[in-house]
Amino acid sequence: MAEKRCPLNREQLEALAQRFPTPFHLYDEAGIRGNARRLKAAFAWNPGFKEYFAVKATPNPYILKILRAEGFGADCSSMGELLLSEQVGMRGGDIMFTSNDTPAYEYAKAMELGAIINLDDITHIEYLEEHTGLPDLVCCRYNPGALKAGNAIIGHPEEAKYGFTREQLFEGYRILRDKGVRRFGLHTMVASNELEISYFLETAHMLFELVGELSATLGIGFEFVNLGGGIGIPYRPAQEPVDLEALGEGVRALYEQWIVGKGLGPLDIRMECGRMVTGPYGWLVSRVLHRKNTYKQYVGLDACMANLMRPAMYGAYHHITVAGKEDAACDFVCDVTGSLCENNDKFAIDRAMPQADVGDLVVIHDAGAHGHAMGFNYNAKLRSAELLRREDGTIVPIRRAETVADYFATLDMEGLEAFPA
Ligand SMILES: *Cc1c(COP(=O)(O)O)cnc(C)c1O
Repeated sequence: MAEKRCPLNREQLEALAQRFPTPFHLYDEAGIRGNARRLKAAFAWNPGFKEYFAVKATPNPYILKILRAEGFGADCSSMGELLLSEQVGMRGGDIMFTSNDTPAYEYAKAMELGAIINLDDITHIEYLEEHTGLPDLVCCRYNPGALKAGNAIIGHPEEAKYGFTREQLFEGYRILRDKGVRRFGLHTMVASNELEISYFLETAHMLFELVGELSATLGIGFEFVNLGGGIGIPYRPAQEPVDLEALGEGVRALYEQWIVGKGLGPLDIRMECGRMVTGPYGWLVSRVLHRKNTYKQYVGLDACMANLMRPAMYGAYHHITVAGKEDAACDFVCDVTGSLCENNDKFAIDRAMPQADVGDLVVIHDAGAHGHAMGFNYNAKLRSAELLRREDGTIVPIRRAETVADYFATLDMEGLEAFPA
């Protein structure tokens, strides 16, 4: 059973909160770097291995800079994510543009950066050609439909909006080949927050076999397969993290069998994980504002789902500890709430935890991915600051908290004339 600890103790958090009012998100650079290195080491057997960090998980340029220094690229799906990646110096093969329902101006920006274009649909071949022309290298996203079992967050592949069907994939690469495209990649993303290695091995097997079939049928070669993201993290203390070394070795065995053994390759393995890269190394720190005892016990925080919406949105579990009471008995059952006028604004329901008193600091764990990123302004709530604990232990802000002026900024109609009647 993994123990969930924040790198700062109560005194350190209190001192930090004097300078940066709660709530705030805190990230740990050493943790992120160590984890990035473990992932790379697990796939070191594949010389072309590259992880493209899914920017949406933690879209902060300071975090992206750290990951770039570790050799990661960026997986983008929007204009803003492309601009963030560009800002930290990524270009060309550093960027995978995996979008869907894509507007032409985003394709144009991706092409300008030389990003690897990953098409979500067969109709986008023509759309891309018409708006920007086709690049040299094109990747297509495969949706295996009923051929692959689903997983809880992403659902059954046949219900997912993403990707080409199997038939469309053969047709799509044929069209691309006939239009003069010479370099190819193959992508899929069928899992989210999955902790079972076998799930990823099935995916790798599926893609390796498909590379063989597509190559033989169409007389084309593939440079890479992208296994997508979706590696889960142990949000619950009783869960175990994915054994990356075992995952790497498992993919290697399949590669030997289905790529090397079939006279194919060399083929680069690509991934685009987000959650597992930063998730465990981020904490949402908040203070207890109120205790309330009605039909249930409530602990009211100064954070709300605008700071972390996963529990409210998916019923997701996030472990919660009370600073300074890490070793106290969990003999107090309560709902941990925010202040939105929405009854689902709860970080935990019927959670057994130590007695949390008004004024205590509470740490919500595993908030490093899809945490601040999903923030929003409902109820005129302002998004919190993001802080980074550097490797030398100093803590720097990497995003300031929003102010009321930010909230009012889009209400300035100066210079906007009325549309004529
Ligand atoms: C969200 C997403 C990812 C990252 O998923 P994680 O679960 O954070 O690893 C990767 N690729 C695509 C296309 C995505 O939509």
